[in-house]
Amino acid sequence: HIKKVNESYFGSYSSFGIHREMLSDKARMDAYGQAILKNPSLLNGAVVMDVGCGTGILSLFAAQAGASRVIAVEASAKMAAVASRVAKDNSLLLSKNETRVNGNQKGVVEVVHGMVEEIDKIVELQPHSVDVLLSEWMGYCLLYESMLGSVLYARDRYLKPGGAILPDTATIFVAGFGKGGTSLPFWENVCDFDMSSIGEELVTDAARYPIVDVIDHQDLVTSSTILQTFDLATMKPDEVDFTATASLEPNSSNSENGKTHLNSKTCRWCYGVVLWFDTGFTSRFCRETPAVLSTSPYTPKTHWSQTILTFREPIAIGSGEDNARKPETIGTEVYPAAKIDLRVSIVRSTEHRSIDISMEAAGV
Ligand code: SAH
Repeated sequence: HIKKVNESYFGSYSSFGIHREMLSDKARMDAYGQAILKNPSLLNGAVVMDVGCGTGILSLFAAQAGASRVIAVEASAKMAAVASRVAKDNSLLLSKNETRVNGNQKGVVEVVHGMVEEIDKIVELQPHSVDVLLSEWMGYCLLYESMLGSVLYARDRYLKPGGAILPDTATIFVAGFGKGGTSLPFWENVCDFDMSSIGEELVTDAARYPIVDVIDHQDLVTSSTILQTFDLATMKPDEVDFTATASLEPNSSNSENGKTHLNSKTCRWCYGVVLWFDTGFTSRFCRETPAVLSTSPYTPKTHWSQTILTFREPIAIGSGEDNARKPETIGTEVYPAAKIDLRVSIVRSTEHRSIDISMEAAGV
């Protein structure tokens, strides 16, 4: 079964549309481009491995940055062939009769077709001989597709002690969103007709699964906070699965929001939470020019969008005297919670390249 899942996963990377989407993602390209091209003391003369090279873009950057050898690993047969062709067309492919040892040859990229976990016999490469490990492994909600495990495998097998991994940090953030982050406002007024029953049904359905979509930061009704941080250089492979807690406090914006019978202007309804991630190319390895790739609602949108988790029931939060009491509804009066306590766990699903997300939320 795992074999089948892998076949369909790597098969999905054989279509050019997905590569075009990634290559057109400005935030992504700027961060990787800056990290690889603007840190000459790291890349110049380095032995580099690119885990999951796709079209080979990161390997081409590395070659351009003066790497002495670039091992571009790709599991999809189609994309491995494409990466070879592209490197060749740009005179960056290591040609068969060129030897790697003689100084200033141009072609330094070797494309290796296989899963990084299985390339041992295909490529001449000593364990712990790579200076810089590159990969763009991030999926929706950071961990969808579960490619991080493969990168950590490559790190433990091929990276030199103290070698660099780019990016070297990944952080998942969380914030609460208000009614504007749901489809309710749309359905409340369709050509001046009230279709809010459809909106309510959609919000109920949304509570059953995560949605990948863009959220406007103006629709956030709480502070944003870190849910989980990964240090790619030191984390253990089993730390990819995690459970974390966070507390969300109402933010200071006073936009009108949600159900109308709130007892105070500073009280708002939180309909769920949104997750996003940043990856860091920190000064630990990128000493000249560190970079950050952010997929936040506060920065220009990326192809990852954000991940929206909707509550079964909205939670009223607010600041003011009423916080002394537990959140509750008496008649039409709602007493808001001072904050929302969250517990979120994300674990790799064993049978698919997907993830299982579970969330508990309580107004306290
Ligand atoms: N580095 C490219 C492509 C990123 S997409 C870019 O930045 O544009 C991730 C790629 O990794 C896909 O092409 C996928 O087929 C490949 N991949 C995923 N897991 C892999 C593994 N375990 N071994 C080798 N390649 C893998």
